[in-house]
Amino acid sequence: MRFKLKIIGYLIYLKVNKWLYRNDYLTLQKMRWKKQIKNLKKSKFYLPWINKGSELTSLPIVNKQIFMDHFDTINTLNINKIDALKIAIDAENSRDFTLTIKGVTVGLSTGTSGNRGCFLVSENERALWVACIIDRVIGFSISKRKVAFFMRANSNLYQSVQSNLLEFHFLDILKSIEINLDELQQIKPNIIVAQPSQLVIIAKNIENKKINISPQKVISIAEVLTSEDKEYLEKSFGQIIHQVYQCTEGFLAASCSNGTLHFNEDLLIIEKKYLDKEQTKFYPIITDLMRKSQPIIRYELNDIVTIRSSCPCGSKMLAIEQIEGRSDDILVFNSENDVVEIFPDAFRRAIVLADEQITDFALHQQNKNALGLYINSLNKSSYEKAEIGVRNLLSSHHLADIIIYRINEDPHIIGTKKRRIKNDTRKTY
Ligand SMILES: [Zn+2]
Repeated sequence: MRFKLKIIGYLIYLKVNKWLYRNDYLTLQKMRWKKQIKNLKKSKFYLPWINKGSELTSLPIVNKQIFMDHFDTINTLNINKIDALKIAIDAENSRDFTLTIKGVTVGLSTGTSGNRGCFLVSENERALWVACIIDRVIGFSISKRKVAFFMRANSNLYQSVQSNLLEFHFLDILKSIEINLDELQQIKPNIIVAQPSQLVIIAKNIENKKINISPQKVISIAEVLTSEDKEYLEKSFGQIIHQVYQCTEGFLAASCSNGTLHFNEDLLIIEKKYLDKEQTKFYPIITDLMRKSQPIIRYELNDIVTIRSSCPCGSKMLAIEQIEGRSDDILVFNSENDVVEIFPDAFRRAIVLADEQITDFALHQQNKNALGLYINSLNKSSYEKAEIGVRNLLSSHHLADIIIYRINEDPHIIGTKKRRIKNDTRKTY
């Protein structure tokens, strides 16, 4: 009950601030940064910097490695990593996610770079997260709604949202799609939250009349939502596909009423590490203004984010054209005298523009000289057209001797993150 009251409290807090500051998120940022500075004095890692000044840009940029290496001194509760990891693993094994250390829960981040990390979340931080999700993703309504949520494992973070107004059903993406489709049919959800690869399967099964559901809201999470999938899903579900951009490091962005992702710049400060001369793509460096137990300050993510210059909704918060994938998805080649890096989106466009009958594809880099190409299409010539598209792209970068071989079966394993363009040569993955 206390937790639910906290959620309601934060919901009111978010609504009041939205009304008070409307489009003036910079004022909110300043106020919240001042509070965060006070909090950072409790962090042994940040104290020496804070003593010298309160400018954000004077603090060091961190990444996952640094963040985990300095776990013990970054957190403000004097929790050491060994104890935290033990709690997190015990919670995972016993499925008892109520285990806490110094009043905070510990989550395991499986991560994509191999090294297992963990993160601390206090009850207040969890309540704020839930309030944000209700405020910016699910939307508030006085009628009862059922939410079908596709995820890997259940956790108390989500269970705690159960209420008279929201009924959450968790579908395990590791289960067979038939089981999940049966369950969806029984639930008849008002809202579906799922990875785009799952949404496409659901949409096809609605089209084939294998299931009969008509959700009022569809939210894409966790994987790259390509423009083709977005278009298909919007047509199939007859509505805007909403998106949530979130990771272990926090809830970063959500779609507005136009379906454009905007960073939560009232709750975060976003700096950009540009990746191209035109300054259209960047790695976000995030500073979370609200997380207090384990401050996330100037934390560099490796997601390739493309900027959108504006959005008709009028929000001034930074708009995202698309999230292309991770830095690990950039394909790397050797030309005569240079290393050539090509963004995954360039390959995606080369393939989908080659033939409009292509319904699915994958391109995996096996080594510096070989690419595996998978094409799903009713048209037999689609593969050749896609291969020519990829070859033309490589030629435009003066790469001539790359072998392209055919992959006959979809390499995506159900239950894992779907990554169509993948660089298998990256050892860290
Ligand atoms: Zn917008």
